[in-house]
Amino acid sequence: MALRSVFDASQIRTEFENAGINSHFIPLIWKYVIQNPNCEWDEVPSLPSSAYPLLRSKFKPSTSTVHSVIDSSDEVTTKLLIKLQVGCKMGCKFCATGSMGFKNNLSSGEIVEQLVHASHLSQIRNVVFMGMGEPLNNYTALVEAIRVMTGSPFRLSLKRITVSTVGIIHAIKKLQNDIPNLNLAVSLHAPVQDIRCQIMPAARAFPLERLMDTLREYQKNSQQKIFIEYIMLDGVNDEEQHAHQLGKLLETFEVVVNLIPFNPIGTLSHFSTSSEQKVTKFQKILRGTYSIRTTIRKQMGQDISGACGQLVVNQSDKRSTGSAGLLTDIEDLSL
Ligand code: SF4
Repeated sequence: MALRSVFDASQIRTEFENAGINSHFIPLIWKYVIQNPNCEWDEVPSLPSSAYPLLRSKFKPSTSTVHSVIDSSDEVTTKLLIKLQVGCKMGCKFCATGSMGFKNNLSSGEIVEQLVHASHLSQIRNVVFMGMGEPLNNYTALVEAIRVMTGSPFRLSLKRITVSTVGIIHAIKKLQNDIPNLNLAVSLHAPVQDIRCQIMPAARAFPLERLMDTLREYQKNSQQKIFIEYIMLDGVNDEEQHAHQLGKLLETFEVVVNLIPFNPIGTLSHFSTSSEQKVTKFQKILRGTYSIRTTIRKQMGQDISGACGQLVVNQSDKRSTGSAGLLTDIEDLSL
């Protein structure tokens, strides 16, 4: 039987419970593994004797490996390529991950292991779930991973965790009950249903009007601002009329809009980058006419394909088709 990640919280809790081992040992094991990533189970101190054979027979300290660590010349961005790729089934037309198709879901342990790998390089304060698949399509593992990240020994603040979604309506509703106070980012990318469906096929199942009603409800209950991601595609969704439509759609919400200049990679992309003037004009309309806080995403890590799915696609077959943007400033906004 394949060994599971020791960070698969429900698995290890169940195994410990069945063996009569107190679950308060679990965070101690995690802490030891974080500090000693290549440890053998026998080296973990002070566990009940029955815990050692159980760990050996069922769990591994890590089920993923860091394939490469690439620093950008911007000197602040580092991308880890972790061997786990699972793709995404949402098929957004501008996204490199979407072009990979869907292979598998991550387990909660595999999600947490990414944080463990990253924490070996730097102290991690913010976590954003986005870019390599739709988090809410893997709901149970996502919720479990967030609970692990906010508990001992990680102790990340929920205020510093953001989940980004294309707008899976039923899951947004559920998330609010399961983890109140989580930051929500919505990849809106268009102010009207027609354009959304054109560039995000999954939007057909989640009509814009119903999505906005769900977000209104979410905001009413959570009293938190919502982050809106909007990728700027030349001639598709970046005209002045689109800015006005978006402004009207969002003016009664507490939102921060993040305009993402499209970052083309590869030659197959059928989208082009909006000019700087267009992006700035778009921002001006949202800010000036509708008083909506609007930022333009920083272009960090471009030289290392720092955007959604790019690194994997670049490394694997050099045939990528585009990207949803970079990960660096949703977390800045949520501070
Ligand atoms: S943008 Fe997000 S949801 Fe869309 S295909 Fe890419 S990873 Fe999936």
